[in-house]
Amino acid sequence: MKSFLSFLLLFWSSLLLASDLPFTVIFGEWVQGSLLLVELPVPMQLWVDDRQLMVSAKGRSTIGIGRDATELKIRWQDAQGVVHYHNQVVITRNYDIQQINGLPNNKVNPNPQEVTEIKQNNADIAQQRAKRDRFVEPQFPFAWPTSGRISGIYGSQRVLNGQPRRPHFGVDIAAPEGTPVYAPDHAKVLLANPKMVLTGQTLLLDHGLGVKSIYVHLSDMTVKAGDMVKRGQLIGRVGKTGRATGPHLHWGVSWFDLQLDAAKVVETPQPPSLGNL
Ligand SMILES: [Zn+2]
Repeated sequence: MKSFLSFLLLFWSSLLLASDLPFTVIFGEWVQGSLLLVELPVPMQLWVDDRQLMVSAKGRSTIGIGRDATELKIRWQDAQGVVHYHNQVVITRNYDIQQINGLPNNKVNPNPQEVTEIKQNNADIAQQRAKRDRFVEPQFPFAWPTSGRISGIYGSQRVLNGQPRRPHFGVDIAAPEGTPVYAPDHAKVLLANPKMVLTGQTLLLDHGLGVKSIYVHLSDMTVKAGDMVKRGQLIGRVGKTGRATGPHLHWGVSWFDLQLDAAKVVETPQPPSLGNL
């Protein structure tokens, strides 16, 4: 009986092997909020924290790292059926957290009538973000979608009267109303909604391999859902529709349900200054 048990233990441990990563990272870093492009030497099935990765015909895949991730559990199966794993440590970041106290309660909690509509808007976006179509493969780095000055960064969070709010997941680029917004890479338009409560005129693009990008508060949209767009194509214009205090583009990049830092997928840390795009 005892030898049978040790045989079983040996059998299981041989099916799950701690191994070096089976792919090469060709873009991105193991840092919170980042997106990596990886190349697989041979076809294989891969999972990261139980999300199965999409693999392109060229053997490329992407990995997104959430705002608060500290370790990723990467798992894959080789040609012999052996399952390997690798626990990848993630470099953490310090986010800008602002504590604001003494606010009247009506400034803290949104109007209940709007809550239902906001939930519906969020559900529509989440449904599109979960899509796993295989029509295009992203090219990194992305181009900045507009010119202007960065006025809001990824990961920042406000704590109002002790209640932590949802972190800010986009990069805000302040620019005059009407400044052109271009596709940062080729994509399919998944959603073009002219009237969302918080985000106003909103576009969502699918760049393939689970990577999506969102454009919020636009004053105008020049594409519609289902359109294929090229890198650098005009898709809309900067505005302040929805809940915005002034004209700016809120630009976000996501990987399936994880929201990433758009400033980490572009070539330069800052967008082009106005008039130089
Ligand atoms: Zn924003």
